[in-house]
Parts: sequence; C-alpha cells; structure tokens
Amino acid sequence: MTIGKLVAHGGGGMYPCQYCSESFPVKELTLDHVMPVSRGGRTEWENIVTACKKCNHSKGSKLITPNRLPWKPEYWHIVSCIREHHNFQLKHDSWDKYLG
Ligand SMILES: [Zn+2]
Repeated sequence: MTIGKLVAHGGGGMYPCQYCSESFPVKELTLDHVMPVSRGGRTEWENIVTACKKCNHSKGSKLITPNRLPWKPEYWHIVSCIREHHNFQLKHDSWDKYLG
C-alpha cells in the first residue's frame, strides 16, 4: 500500500502500537519518543514510534525498545493524521534558540 492510497483513505487506517503490537485507529494512537525528551531524545522521525495511549502512559520515561524502529514515510503520514485528530504539536524546544 502506498502513502498516496493511505491518504486517500482519509487516514482511517489501523496502525500497530510498536510496544504491544495491537492495531489501533490513528485517533487512538500517540507518538512516543523512544529516547525520552527528558533524557535528551529528539523529536524527529528516527526517535518516534506509534504507541497506544495505554503503552505510552505506562512507559513514562522508561527506555523500552519498540518492536520495530521508526520508518520515515510512515512517521510523516502518521504525524499528519495525529495532528489532525489531536491538534498535536511537535515540540520545538530544541529550535527555540534559532527561532528566538
Ligand atoms: Zn500498546
């Protein structure tokens, strides 16, 4: 399935939580930092996986290796879907010094 087809579906697809491997609709998923921000993890696709709310909540700031490492095209697609549903904002903390 291509990204184009996924988008054509209106983002209604199911994506797996990368911790418990169950599939959830996008609106039930969160974006989780594999390396927590509090430990220096950055908000970029290499450090973000999809996680269900339950796993994200129970993970907290622990380090847990996801089942599958992030995949860039999927990441950007999911970010766009999640932003739509949750008004999700990427953390720009690390950019503050550039943006003033
Ligand atoms: Zn989960």
